[in-house]
Amino acid sequence: MDDGRSYVVIGGGLAGLASAVWLAEAGKRVTVLERRARLGGRTRAMTVTGVPDPADNGQHVVATGYEHLFRYLTSVGTADAVEFPHSGSLRWPGGRVTALHTRGVRSIGTLFGAHPDAGAAERLRAAVATVRLIRQALRPPADLADLSTGQWFERIGMPAKARVALWDWLALGIAAEPVQRGSAKVFAGVLATAVRLGLRDRRAVSIGYPTVDLDTLYIAGAERVFRERGVEVRYRAAARRIVVADGTVRAVLLDDGTEIPADAVVCAVPNSHIRGLLDDLPEHPEIYAAADKLGVTPIVSTNLYLDGPLGTKAAMEAIIGGAGVIDEVFDRQRMHRRPTDGVWLYCLTTSGAYEQIHRSHDEIVTEQLDLLRRYYPDAAQRKVVHAQVVKMPEATFSQVVGTDALRPDQRTSVPGLVLAGDWTRTDWSATMESAAQSAARAVGALLELPPA
Ligand SMILES: Cc1cc2nc3c(=O)[nH]c(=O)nc-3n(C[C@H](O)[C@H](O)[C@H](O)COP(=O)(O)OP(=O)(O)OC[C@H]3O[C@@H](n4cnc5c(N)ncnc54)[C@H](O)[C@@H]3O)c2cc1C
Repeated sequence: MDDGRSYVVIGGGLAGLASAVWLAEAGKRVTVLERRARLGGRTRAMTVTGVPDPADNGQHVVATGYEHLFRYLTSVGTADAVEFPHSGSLRWPGGRVTALHTRGVRSIGTLFGAHPDAGAAERLRAAVATVRLIRQALRPPADLADLSTGQWFERIGMPAKARVALWDWLALGIAAEPVQRGSAKVFAGVLATAVRLGLRDRRAVSIGYPTVDLDTLYIAGAERVFRERGVEVRYRAAARRIVVADGTVRAVLLDDGTEIPADAVVCAVPNSHIRGLLDDLPEHPEIYAAADKLGVTPIVSTNLYLDGPLGTKAAMEAIIGGAGVIDEVFDRQRMHRRPTDGVWLYCLTTSGAYEQIHRSHDEIVTEQLDLLRRYYPDAAQRKVVHAQVVKMPEATFSQVVGTDALRPDQRTSVPGLVLAGDWTRTDWSATMESAAQSAARAVGALLELPPA
């Protein structure tokens, strides 16, 4: 119901879109301010002239436990555009492939020992270490915050083969940081969330992917909701400061000097863009300091359009031992169930790409093709029709040792001013679910405001 307030959402990424959609659903008058010329933030499609099937700014996977993200997808009408396959593949040098079960009872077998060459004794040790890992995730030892994920795996005795085949890769995927740097506490937190959700829903949390590009998944439906509910979107509107006086939100000041009147604000920008916006908030020094310490981590994604198939066995393939060059290969033909039309699209991901981010487009493509040829025998015959390298130096906030306790709450000392974004405090690491959950909490806090 319209309460006469003007609600302003700063940032048109997932957290901002979800906040705006949910406020509009609640009947509020909403304006979205986005500094770019388009919505989507870090989840968007990339167009390539003359090539069918738009790729994304980076392949995004989802988990069954992403309940707030699914609430958003339901609001924008695309909840059925996500699929959870029964398995992915682990791909080894020379082209060897083993199954990575992501659903059902067989996923427990994967969890307890995914390495195809592990003997019975090693599998038993992996199972014992996994149980220990889960127990410590649920009841973290006092010093876990001081450990890297790698140190934690070592301490609980996770066998090397289990680490190579599953755990190091999983930890890299969750924290977007190599295990030598990634925080054990962050990884434990996500594991604990997954276990709790699994127990609640009586099914293991599994991994899936969108069957459409990210513009179709997240943006088109939001734009429809905005049209239907009269949400105004202002593009190229970079917010500079949220104006607060006497403990009340008054306006949002833009870079060009315009003041947008506001009675309530969701500030949904990444930690790397927060500085200045909260200057009127008494606790801004602590929030800025935390935002700086959280820092950023790079991801490099390469969308390779080839003249023939690569010979994948599953839509998602983890490249074992390819860390630093390629972590995963995603087969968009399988994912989007689309005819190939003479061009095959493969999306390659490298998380924690501290070295790769500094290389040129051509160097990255050459290095990745060399690696693909070692893992996919068919790659030798393939020609690159088009290659698109998407470097994201600020892909997510960094979840290295010492960062787990830094994330600020959505509520601030000013009731009409709330924070959202993947970096604010949630049950997840830097993920789309974290962005959506933060939006749910931020909107929840605003809907509790007393009548205007
Ligand atoms: C390559 C890559 C792969 C990823 N893979 C996965 C994955 O597999 N699974 C997963 O769950 N997550 C993944 N993530 C993380 C996920 O994309 C992010 O956590 C999520 O999209 C963050 O959403 P957000 O709304 O918090 O931030 P953003 O999407 O960054 O949105 C913030 C918005 O605010 C705008 N903005 C900034 N400053 C201002 C200002 N002053 N005024 C107005 N607007 C402003 C920005 O332009 C942007 O549109 C990945 C991220 C990347 C980059």
